[in-house]
Amino acid sequence: MNMFKPVTPNVNFPEMEKKILEGWYSSGLVDRYLHRNDKSEKRFSFLDGPITANNPMGVHHAWGRTYKDLWQRFHNMLGDKQRFQNGFDCQGLWIEVEVEKELEIRNKKDIENLVAGDKKKSIAKFVQLCKDRVVRFSNIQTEQSKRLGYFMDWDNSYYTMSDENNYMIWHFLKTCHEKGWIYKGRDSVPWCPRCQTAISQHEMLTEDYKEIVHESIYFRLPIVGRENEYLLVWTTTPWTIPANIAVAVDVTFNYSLVEASDGKKYWLARELIESVFGTNAKKIIKTVKGKELVGAKYHGPFDDLEVVKKTNEENKGKFHIVIPTDKNILPIVLTEGTGIVHTAVSAGVEDFKLGKKLGLPMIAVIEDNADYLPTLGFLAGQNAKKHPRIILDYVAQKGFAYKIHNYKHRYPACWRCKAELVWKVADEWYIAMDKKAKSEIPASTMGRRNPKSETKNGKTLRKMMMGVAKKINWIPDFGLDRELDWLKNMHDWLISKKNRYWGLALPIYECTKCGWFDVLGSKEELKERAVEGWKEFEGHTPHKPHIDEVKIKCAKCDTEISRIDDVGNVWLDAGIVPFATYLDPKTKKLSYTSDKKYWGEWYPVDFITESFPGQFKNWFYSMIAMSTVLENENPFKTVLGFATLLGEDGRPMHKSWGNAIEFNEGADKIGVDVIRWMFAKQDPEQNSLFGYKKADETRRKFHLLLWNIYNFFITYANTDQYKVEREKSKITNVLDEWILSKLNELIQKVTESLDKFDAAVAANSLELFVSDLSQWYVRRSRDRVGPTVPNSQDKENCYKTLYEVLTTLCRLLAPFTPYISEEIYQNLTGEESVHLANWPAFVPLNGTSTGQTQLMKNMEFIRQVCELGHAKRKELGLKVRQPLGKFSIFNFPRPRQAKRGGQFSLNDEMTQLIKDELNVKEVETVIGDGEIEVELDTQLTPTLIAEGQARELVRQIQNARKSVGCGLTDKIKVNLPSWPIEFTNYIKKETLADELIVGDIFKIEVK
Ligand SMILES: [Zn+2]
Ligand SMILES: [Zn+2]
Repeated sequence: MNMFKPVTPNVNFPEMEKKILEGWYSSGLVDRYLHRNDKSEKRFSFLDGPITANNPMGVHHAWGRTYKDLWQRFHNMLGDKQRFQNGFDCQGLWIEVEVEKELEIRNKKDIENLVAGDKKKSIAKFVQLCKDRVVRFSNIQTEQSKRLGYFMDWDNSYYTMSDENNYMIWHFLKTCHEKGWIYKGRDSVPWCPRCQTAISQHEMLTEDYKEIVHESIYFRLPIVGRENEYLLVWTTTPWTIPANIAVAVDVTFNYSLVEASDGKKYWLARELIESVFGTNAKKIIKTVKGKELVGAKYHGPFDDLEVVKKTNEENKGKFHIVIPTDKNILPIVLTEGTGIVHTAVSAGVEDFKLGKKLGLPMIAVIEDNADYLPTLGFLAGQNAKKHPRIILDYVAQKGFAYKIHNYKHRYPACWRCKAELVWKVADEWYIAMDKKAKSEIPASTMGRRNPKSETKNGKTLRKMMMGVAKKINWIPDFGLDRELDWLKNMHDWLISKKNRYWGLALPIYECTKCGWFDVLGSKEELKERAVEGWKEFEGHTPHKPHIDEVKIKCAKCDTEISRIDDVGNVWLDAGIVPFATYLDPKTKKLSYTSDKKYWGEWYPVDFITESFPGQFKNWFYSMIAMSTVLENENPFKTVLGFATLLGEDGRPMHKSWGNAIEFNEGADKIGVDVIRWMFAKQDPEQNSLFGYKKADETRRKFHLLLWNIYNFFITYANTDQYKVEREKSKITNVLDEWILSKLNELIQKVTESLDKFDAAVAANSLELFVSDLSQWYVRRSRDRVGPTVPNSQDKENCYKTLYEVLTTLCRLLAPFTPYISEEIYQNLTGEESVHLANWPAFVPLNGTSTGQTQLMKNMEFIRQVCELGHAKRKELGLKVRQPLGKFSIFNFPRPRQAKRGGQFSLNDEMTQLIKDELNVKEVETVIGDGEIEVELDTQLTPTLIAEGQARELVRQIQNARKSVGCGLTDKIKVNLPSWPIEFTNYIKKETLADELIVGDIFKIEVK
């Protein structure tokens, strides 16, 4: 009877994984795992950053999910109580855009006409379709995550579209309002003409900038009252020229009046004459400081438009005039352009700010979809982005164009639909970053907070957030600088989104009559304040259109008022989860807004991990903001950020480039244990290159090596009828002693690295250990086991050691590679699962000269010496099977040094290892200083030659045994033309041959 289930050497990992996965869920193992530590006093509080439930997972999602699962498994094995709650991000533009694509509709009008002629029903239908999409993809992502081996409480995932989440954001916004931080502001904002909504600064990520070629224009503006003198101005956004109010100069720069070959005289920065005119500059007439140009008036190409005329008349002295720039708002560069900058107050962030500072008027030029407004005469109704030529042609025809040319620049696109952005003045809602709080930040109700943080009266949100960010342990540590940099430079938080449907209903109620507004903080408050529509709304989620049935009364003038039409910025949805996802398991109520007890047991969370590009502005930011406002505390203690996943060719993954890998495809072709191992080994600061070649290499270097060791153990242990014994026996073999010391060292290293959230050091140590185990322990122990070796204590000890090593290794690997560790562990132990096992303990080493560390040093030395010996054999062309007489080691360290601890000595056992490994009869050590050198005695005596022949024959017979499918213990009969007679017994013993018979040809027979 076999003790263990036999193992196939040709393992198919993905198939194996699928079988194990099924077993986990059908047996209820996952549930037992999740509730393993329910009664524990120790906790590990992890918070999942919600994944957007909008599409199937890509292989890049597996990186973060590997980390998330890894640390939760580690802490589960350590006995820590946990929540295992996964999160789905549900609301916002990303879902809307996909639903629009599905419906093949193009714009707002189409959405509002989904149910012909009924706007309200249309919006209800659209919102429902968005919800449906979230449900569909959250189910798909759940299945994919399970396939990844990710153990979570999948039936209790949180959804950011939940009532709890939405109302909790209301509570946050109301708290902001109480501090006086919510305001409506008019600003020039980046705007997506397709989505017809503002794009907040948070959403403008570097990856959303595209290299685009646009037609740019140098245009000339005739100066009023000066003959043939022009201001030369350059712009890359000609569509904004109708919005031109002024041109800006730097008062400290030198500007020259240049006569060009076209006979006209142009003003521009002296340093740019060459780059603009080249050989077309005939002469420089004069040069003055920028300040002397300030105040000059000019004519523009669109002066005939009614709206331009009107703006001019109403703003004499502040229109079409040279203005001094403010270097902090709109710095002028001397590397391109003309040094005279077109200022379109309504159509640029800097332009708007400068205009505000100088009290300039503005001309609004575009609608929400970037069509020119009806006030723009012949331009009205034409689209500014789609038809740039109407501007260029007109400017040229009017004689204002100097030069039009193609210009390549980085231009921002919408993060969802990739349409090119424009800038537009809009009324949006903001949270002020630099306004001192009106009221105190509430002292903690938990009584365990830092007393110093209890009253921060009068501080700005920006200052407070910076203080909170500093309390967090950022990995990598540059994370803090990145976050602080963002916090230092960000504008007020734009929280509204116009013209959208599927998102947080911003609870702002504004009076159209008197301008007063209020922010509601809960469903209860809404009910209390409702004067109309509550019945129609009741029973619905707080989304459009139903939420807007409810009207309240203006507290100032008693007018019946509505909620503003806008939805909220999506990062509000994810930022609130440290408060909105803790439902008290006993009361089923949201803990934070009831007694806070259950919530307080988990907050602040110990650990979060997400890909950092973008998150400093987004999830990390919004959590810090919301936690600062509500608790003035860091929402998480440690954050592990990681870089970006690229294709193995080093380029971003793109379907069209053939280097993108979908999650299911990757899991089926590669196997998720290999995928997880690739991520675990990765330095999180560096981008990870991912592809099939790298996966094959990873599997070969680690998983197959481990599998071969396992296969070796099972095959021989079954053959030898080894029975597992739990009692420790005295270790007598130096190899056993060594590998057990290495194992102890490994446990310590892996434990300490995981404690520090460093998976890469842990995984690389594990991989190195498996390599040592295979290439030294198993290699040198092969002759200790198997049917050719008589039963002995040493054989027993070898199995016992390897069993201990493999079962412990499985426990260490369980958080990293849950499938292979399960397969091996179950077969070895007969236990239900490695995932219910405890994390292995270790004896801390102090790192100096204990017996264990000395042994490990000695073994390291022996392995180096053997490597030199093998290199020597190779150099001399002598196969290892040919025994040699003597092996000499020169410059062997002095015994004196050995005694001091830093060095080592060779005992008989160690010497024997060298003899076996290098197949030599004698090992000589010559003491000396300097580099270790080795020498082989190459003189072959007849006995050595005969032994070499015998070994060669053994090899041939073993191969023949394998090729006829002979079992490990089967006896055979061998026909041989000849063999060295003095080695007959040796050959018989090594090959389990009963007889060696002289015959013409070599052949074996199974008896
Ligand atoms: Zn868009
Ligand atoms: Zn009012």
